[in-house]
Amino acid sequence: MTKLTKKIALVTGGSRGIGAAIAKRLAADGASVAITYAKDSTAALAVVQAIESMGGKAIAIQADAADVEAVKNAVENVVATFGRLDVLVNNAGTAMPKPFEEATQEEMDRVVDINIRGVFATTQAALKHMGNGGRIIMVGSAVGERVVTPGLVPYAATKGAVKMFTQALSREVGTRGITVNNVQPGPIDTDLNPASGDWAVPQKAITALDRYGHVDEIAAMVSFIASPEASYVTGANLTVDGGMNA
Ligand code: NDP
Repeated sequence: MTKLTKKIALVTGGSRGIGAAIAKRLAADGASVAITYAKDSTAALAVVQAIESMGGKAIAIQADAADVEAVKNAVENVVATFGRLDVLVNNAGTAMPKPFEEATQEEMDRVVDINIRGVFATTQAALKHMGNGGRIIMVGSAVGERVVTPGLVPYAATKGAVKMFTQALSREVGTRGITVNNVQPGPIDTDLNPASGDWAVPQKAITALDRYGHVDEIAAMVSFIASPEASYVTGANLTVDGGMNA
């Protein structure tokens, strides 16, 4: 028995980066895992195969987080496949770094649709199936609390919304034994935020640890929050940022 044996988890945006690390970690903890992805079916399949090669169970579902019907269908697909849903990780997210005044309406709409509208829709669909011990986990951002570089205005606004969504929702579902928490990464080396290049220099410099984080360092926090041990943690914003916001 491992800590998530018999649990069913859905990780949105689980084909690459932080989401893929979370999916693999929850599977290593014993959960059966579904991941969604937007475009890259090859990467999604590789995550499924990695989990299966560890002896776990996994499926991948194409569902753009901005498409409300697609995310609702994804949740129903998970329940139809595994019979239940215990852990939702709202990880899918995007950023379009540029000065606010240069952002197009279309770009801003896309950030809002994926980072917050999709989180509302997926969470609502998941809650229909969740009972006592359920876990709703957001992957917000350290910039949802404190913004230390320019160029992230719509992104930071959506992650601030994720923070308050977490706190507010925890008040509605707590009596059902469901916890709601927000893991807030700092700079983590992924395709979205590579640890090399000009954009990385100021981010690394403002961390207390003077380094980027690894995807597994976020997955470790999600693993704890998903576990029965975290039963009294809810409505919390758990910052994993190498001291960026210290
Ligand atoms: P990546 O861009 O590296 O990976 C994104 C993942 O999400 C991929 O699996 C991608 O699949 C999927 N995805 C992207 N768009 C959509 C969509 N519209 N619908 C469904 N799935 C989608 O990102 P990260 O791993 O870096 O980021 C993951 C989360 O962590 C995001 O919410 C981000 O805001 C947050 N975060 C990241 C930080 C960092 O420094 N990396 C810092 C703070 C927060 P596909 O390839 O198929 O599109």
